[in-house]
Amino acid sequence: MMLLRTKPSILRLFMVVVVAWGLAACGQEASHDAPIEHTSSLFVFGTKVDITVRGEDQASLKAAVARLELEFQHMHKDWHAWKPGELVDLNAAFAAGQSKTVTPFLLPLIEQAKSLYQLSDGLFNPAIGGLIGAWGFHADEKPHGALPDLSAIRALAAQHPSMNDVMIEGDVVSSSNRSVQLDFGGFAKGAALDRAEQVLKEMGIKNALINAGGNINTLGSSGAAPWKIGIRDPKSWGVIAILALNSGEDVYTSGNYERFREVDGVRYAHIIDPRDGMPVNHIVSATVIGDGGALLDGASTALTVAGPQDWHRIALKMGIKYAVLVDDEGTVYLNPEMRARIVFAPDQNFKIVESPSL
Ligand code: ADP
Ligand code: MG
Repeated sequence: MMLLRTKPSILRLFMVVVVAWGLAACGQEASHDAPIEHTSSLFVFGTKVDITVRGEDQASLKAAVARLELEFQHMHKDWHAWKPGELVDLNAAFAAGQSKTVTPFLLPLIEQAKSLYQLSDGLFNPAIGGLIGAWGFHADEKPHGALPDLSAIRALAAQHPSMNDVMIEGDVVSSSNRSVQLDFGGFAKGAALDRAEQVLKEMGIKNALINAGGNINTLGSSGAAPWKIGIRDPKSWGVIAILALNSGEDVYTSGNYERFREVDGVRYAHIIDPRDGMPVNHIVSATVIGDGGALLDGASTALTVAGPQDWHRIALKMGIKYAVLVDDEGTVYLNPEMRARIVFAPDQNFKIVESPSL
């Protein structure tokens, strides 16, 4: 373990990830046989999604992006936790104690949610939609006003809604616990980017980068140079650290300061500890690198819940190889493999707590 002094202003350093990518970043000139890029942005899952595809002809790149836009709209609707769509209908069935047939579009997400729940020892629990709603996070706007009734929150948590309560038989899904309400907000972006990557592959695209608010899936490579990810300090917007992503690697960050409810100067985060139903307040952010958006998205949320004491155990259990967390005192927790990949800006000093290998 190595300790360095830290500056309090860099608490949120891992929350915003920007991408320096593409021909310009590689310093290449476009020529007739050089790959070309097509970029597009859309707004889904409460986030701007930037899609960059690279290939040989503009028409097929445009077609791929157009197809992705339709896919994203579908996911946005039918995986949404509180707006009319298939998931909301399923939650209504659970509350009524009924089973429901689900489409092949939703079923894989329920399966993934169950597996992420197991892998994270229950810290990642997409069955706690009732709690997330009770804290006011089933709204596009940041919640405000008085705190929710904490005895109601405790009562809901005491019903232990869990992904283990959800049963799948063929395409019929039911819950043995009426308090289960599915909310895929903790891994839907990752699942969406995985699906987008799959669609691009099927369309013959070999190189792409999809960035949903700093959560990134890459397909293939960036060409001559590796994908470069700049990690920004959201306060100064300066890039304070750089990470190179290898071919096909993905990076996900979960943070508990961007979306929160503020009451009497206290911030209540949108990441909830399923054990007591209360917002997580010990960690500012967790960033993980690997392959597979849904797993990484779920893991980054789970590590945020696990916190400084428990994150390493959960990362090991989830098969995560690279993780870095920043707590509310500006301490950086990471494994040696992650540390070896991060290049900190020379003028920054952090208190770094290095864990054993993952
Ligand atoms: P981001 O907002 O950056 O996508 P996350 O990936 O961590 O951050 O997702 C946060 C969302 O995850 C919350 O808005 C909520 O929908 C859901 N969530 C909160 N706590 C949990 C939890 N313990 N397990 C699973 N999902 C959670
Ligand atoms: Mg997540």
